[in-house]
Amino acid sequence: MAKISRRTFLKGMAATGAGVAIAGKMTGGQYIYPDYEALAASTAPEEIKYTHCVMCNHGPKCGMKLILKEGKIFRVEKREGYPNNLLCAKGISALQEIYDPDRLLYPHKRTTPKGSDDPKWERITWDEALKTIAEKFNQIKKDYGAEKVLFMTGDPKEPRSALQRLAFTFGSPNMGTESSTCYKATELSAKLTYGPEWYTASSLAMGGGPSPGKTSVALIWANNPAWSAPFSFNGMRNGKGSGTKYIVIDPRVTPTVEALADVHLQLRPGTDGALALCFGNYLIEHDAYDKEFVEKWAHGFEEYKEYVKEFTIEKTAEICDLPIDRLTEACEILANRTGPIVVKGSAAAPHHSNAVNDYRARILLIPLTGSLDVPGGSTIGSEPLGLDEWAGTFEFARSGDLLPKLDHLRVDREYFPVWADTDQQGSVQLNAIPEYVKTGAIKACLMLGGNAMMWPQSQEYQKAFQDMEFVVAADMHIRPWTHNYVDMILPAAVSFERIAPLTAFGRNLFLKEAVVEPAGEARPDYRICCDIGVALGYEEEFWGGGKDAEENCLREVLLTLDVGVTYDDLKAAVPNPIAVPMKGEAQFKKYELGILRPDGKPGFTSPTGKVEFTSEILRKYGFDPLPVYKEPLNSPVSTPDLYKEFPLIMNSGNRVPIYTHSKEREIPWLNSIMPEAIIRLCKKDAEDRGLAEGDMVRITSPVNKEGIVAKLEVTNIVKPGVIDMFHGWSKANINLLIARDFDKISGFPPFKEGLCQVEKA
Ligand code: SF4
Repeated sequence: MAKISRRTFLKGMAATGAGVAIAGKMTGGQYIYPDYEALAASTAPEEIKYTHCVMCNHGPKCGMKLILKEGKIFRVEKREGYPNNLLCAKGISALQEIYDPDRLLYPHKRTTPKGSDDPKWERITWDEALKTIAEKFNQIKKDYGAEKVLFMTGDPKEPRSALQRLAFTFGSPNMGTESSTCYKATELSAKLTYGPEWYTASSLAMGGGPSPGKTSVALIWANNPAWSAPFSFNGMRNGKGSGTKYIVIDPRVTPTVEALADVHLQLRPGTDGALALCFGNYLIEHDAYDKEFVEKWAHGFEEYKEYVKEFTIEKTAEICDLPIDRLTEACEILANRTGPIVVKGSAAAPHHSNAVNDYRARILLIPLTGSLDVPGGSTIGSEPLGLDEWAGTFEFARSGDLLPKLDHLRVDREYFPVWADTDQQGSVQLNAIPEYVKTGAIKACLMLGGNAMMWPQSQEYQKAFQDMEFVVAADMHIRPWTHNYVDMILPAAVSFERIAPLTAFGRNLFLKEAVVEPAGEARPDYRICCDIGVALGYEEEFWGGGKDAEENCLREVLLTLDVGVTYDDLKAAVPNPIAVPMKGEAQFKKYELGILRPDGKPGFTSPTGKVEFTSEILRKYGFDPLPVYKEPLNSPVSTPDLYKEFPLIMNSGNRVPIYTHSKEREIPWLNSIMPEAIIRLCKKDAEDRGLAEGDMVRITSPVNKEGIVAKLEVTNIVKPGVIDMFHGWSKANINLLIARDFDKISGFPPFKEGLCQVEKA
């Protein structure tokens, strides 16, 4: 087997579009960008395909119409008639992702010890890769138990259901996702408020956007869709001009603030919980809450009412560093509402050491204001289709039948029991991977799109992967900050090369076309799961793997979904969807109708059957049942001495418009916009330090005094005394400065609190 260097192994692929007379063909063994202009000018016939974009990896996504000549995509257009069809810079740049000359195209195994700077990757065949994986995993299962093998997805999120099926069939309940640091704490907060049933909690966790003419007040809380989810931003603006008042809560002056805010509350990071409790107190004190709802459906309201009394406007303004008049104005808008409110949260909102309680305090404002499951408020979908969060089914993922038998073997139960106890889908909390490995609870791992940089103190996760007996990663690129610590890498197909999973917009089901054949020997993630499943000995459960595996998975999803739509129906309908009609009318206040509980009785699935202002699940696990506010662990208030040395507050984990986490740096069109790591400071903070725009600066923190270096941008986006830095830069990884001070309930990391200092590098 030929040994190759990192640079050379990335090159070379089987010809797709062989015979292309212009650039875009094999050239010197390289897989390269097509010459888009030449293709456009050529007289070759055009072919049109319909797919969607996954570049920001949200769901739902923007539709795409792709135009090909000679088997090469050379133009991307909006897909008219598709529910989302924005196409931002990232979407258009997807063209450069598929034809990236540095794509990983073949399986490789390392030939040097894990952790060395150069793994000296050696190309291997898929047969060898699958045989090795099966031998290693089955040996660990025999020696220690199947639960010692961890299965995880990062980005893309799409293969979650297929990976669950693989993990649970193998016998391990330990499947986790990148949502361990993103979104899931919002869902957990909703479960602790309304009950553990997933569909209700996931409907209410993030809050919808305002409905024009129906929503009186929209609280847009730590949410900047203009950058994080551009496809949804126009929808958010729909309420503007229709009478909806917008209170936007964010330490930064984002484009969302500028476009929407009637009142902008630029609070100190990490103090959101206090603000939410202040709103609750003001509403109660001013008799502006829904007494009827509270009397009938609230549990623990009197305790809550007593507790929030301490969050007066004056005290809260001091905690949150807000002007009293602006906070008062926001409180008055809420109290004087003329209809329901929405509380639009975000996946990033609970990035605090007090994540869940801060978030619970926010979402309790929904029932308190009579906005729960009413038109214009925060609603629970009527007649759910039965798809799980990434368009699989519980039956397909085997979460329904196999997972309950394995649940006692979950690796996270000892560390995050509330998370483990309320998780019905089979998604373990990954943030304690170093501890799982140190204690021998995890010995091997399969990661699809995993990223060691996503955690605070990333080096501890790199070490954990290094210390495992065997780690295999599937990805589209070599990412040294993660893959230097794994044993084997598998080439994954990009979105344009795969069909799974299904796409659902409400009750409309779409099938995505595979636009081109996978490059080199890349395989779609669903197929990788099936091929590994077959190699592990589960031929029947994974339909023999192979080229048809993706399609067979989708057939099974549709069969188990049982809505009378088959794969062939969907295929025949492309590019159009097939609508699954509701049996009845949309219903509201479902808690009154006995729709939410499995026993058909009115109420919620919470232990008390009510909306829990005091959580009985938290009480059971020894936590304070109230949504208590706690100062960030390191802050000007809780650690004033440390604050003298590190007088700036950390704020990271937010998105920029052109990158998704650590992805897409390799895309030239995007990289040209932001080629290097940027840290943002306001003018005064920069001047106080003798710094100017463009200076290279060193950022240090109590847990990393060596620090990282980034370029300074002086801006009025950030609040004085706060830094703003995007994550995911391998050479300036802000997560190295953040402590592993996880929220005790959810295990979420404190990306938006903590202290740091900035000086000239
Ligand atoms: S908003 Fe941009 S990145 Fe996200 S799905 Fe749409 S085009 Fe793609």
